[in-house]
Amino acid sequence: EALDRAALERAATAMFAEEAASYAAVRPVGRDCGAATGPGFLDGVPLHWMRDWPMPFPLVLAAAEGARLEDIDGHVLTDFCLGDTGAMFGHAPAPVVAALARSATAGFTTMLPSPAAARVGRLLSQRFGLPHWQVATTASDANRFAIRVARAVTGRPKILVFEGCYHGAVDDTLVDRAPDGATLTRASLLGQVVDLATTTTVVPFNDEAALAMALAGGDIACVLAEPVMTNCSMIAPQPGFHAALRRLTRDAGTLLLIDETHTISSGLGGYTALHGLEPDLFVVGKAIAGGIPASVWGLSAAVAERLAAVRAVVPGGHSGIGTTLSGSTLQLACLEACLTEVMTAEAYAAMNAGADVIEAGLAAALRRHALPWHVARVGARLELVLRAAPLVDAADARAAASHAIEAALHLALLNRGFLLTPFHNMMLVSPAASIADCERLVAAFDAVLGTLVAAAA
Ligand code: PMP
Repeated sequence: EALDRAALERAATAMFAEEAASYAAVRPVGRDCGAATGPGFLDGVPLHWMRDWPMPFPLVLAAAEGARLEDIDGHVLTDFCLGDTGAMFGHAPAPVVAALARSATAGFTTMLPSPAAARVGRLLSQRFGLPHWQVATTASDANRFAIRVARAVTGRPKILVFEGCYHGAVDDTLVDRAPDGATLTRASLLGQVVDLATTTTVVPFNDEAALAMALAGGDIACVLAEPVMTNCSMIAPQPGFHAALRRLTRDAGTLLLIDETHTISSGLGGYTALHGLEPDLFVVGKAIAGGIPASVWGLSAAVAERLAAVRAVVPGGHSGIGTTLSGSTLQLACLEACLTEVMTAEAYAAMNAGADVIEAGLAAALRRHALPWHVARVGARLELVLRAAPLVDAADARAAASHAIEAALHLALLNRGFLLTPFHNMMLVSPAASIADCERLVAAFDAVLGTLVAAAA
């Protein structure tokens, strides 16, 4: 018999309150530290959204290594959040630590290339296919710069993104879609001046007809897309959608910018390599240098040629691309170490083996508790989706989501020693997580789901 969603949400709200009390009770040091007010950081945290996690006060960490976290009250956790991807290959991987130590004696930042530059450029081309590369410091920046190139070479004003997307703090992507299909500036943005409908068009993911119609206007410089949407629960492309996206963009003279920052969980070369996508521009950040601030963006030969032609006729000066610390000695050393020694086929094999255990174990737990939910997955990244059928677009994702259930599961699992990604039910498996760690996560999930269902009955 189908479980009542409202009853589950009430049970989740009650569970959250109990788990919040347990969380606080065993963290006297963290409570003082995490609730700091007065002079110092705004809201007591170095970045305000650290307050938005579903817990009474932030988890203050003493150490992070491999897949292990230790908070300042001495609790040890297995990390399936991994800094929401920056630590996808484990915290402080040894080859990156060694690269940091080596670069410490060679200077961190010079605004000049190191000998590693040529090697890293070649490695990126081999790994991801595109022939030309640049370094930035965050994935947000890499997206911004790639978008600027797309506009420069096409001479077109707009970009197109999919409803529910997240590509970082990139103004032009922070849009929503009105019920009538119009593009809206996201209502929650602070200090927003530009009406984003003038820079951006938004359409639903997996909607070939809406995409074709939007591209027909001839004013879209590029489509910016994650190959699988991972920031709005998890939405897989429907069969044929990527082929249509590539065909329609080519026909319209629109460039295709693929953001693999999260889907790099797919395997070597990302979803692009695995599925033979043919992007004109490509971005990956976060984990690409093992968690050291670095991102890279790639250009096809054709885009690079068109860019050279544009640059030949614009006056010299700032291009609008680049920040001082980008391309640094330190970034290049860490990029090389990560690409050659950390982000390896063996690492992905271990990550996928762990993800297999979680996917199968969680699916079995859902069946056992008669929960009409499923587990979505892109390689080592898994998402518990609170409905039976795969999501097709952001409207589906919104309808399936439940803040109360997500928050309760997140905190209950944290209290049992497992950190999930906040604002999702997302689990990322690092190569440092053992099969036993994954089995223990499944067992904890099973127990928590059992409690939730019993309370809702
Ligand atoms: N692209 C995608 C797909 C992301 O998920 C994110 C961050 N979650 C970003 C870009 C931005 O990364 P950063 O915060 O490192 O700039």
